[in-house]
Amino acid sequence: MARKKKIEYHSYTEGTVRYMSCMVCGNYERVGESAIGVKCSNCIMKTMMNQYPLEDKSYKPTGRPAGWHWMTEFVDKDGKVFHKGKEQPKLKGTLKPTKVTPPKKTKRRTKEEMLVAQYNKKKAALKKAVKKQKDFLNHELGDK
Ligand SMILES: [Zn+2]
Repeated sequence: MARKKKIEYHSYTEGTVRYMSCMVCGNYERVGESAIGVKCSNCIMKTMMNQYPLEDKSYKPTGRPAGWHWMTEFVDKDGKVFHKGKEQPKLKGTLKPTKVTPPKKTKRRTKEEMLVAQYNKKKAALKKAVKKQKDFLNHELGDK
């Protein structure tokens, strides 16, 4: 009997579901009928991670403020000049670095302050509504 040379990954069916051995780690993975080779989700994940490393691994803080590339002119610490995010090599070192001011920390309101503000807002809205109603009534009465 002639043996097939084609590599076939081991598979088996359970009811109507076909499982095939992962070509990397050997774990069984649910596959379609036509599958001839499969990578399990773990191995796919691993491949993905290698191809697209997580952001925090490749992320290097530039020290530039958020939105610096929208600025008409931004001068980096090392003297690089950018106009709307585009480096202007000719201008390098001719300008003072743009001062980066850290964003102001907004004072956190306490829960109570927030409730008071909410209450005042409601009160103002209510007052307005009442006034509107009164105006309407006055108008109606005045007409007659
Ligand atoms: Zn695998």
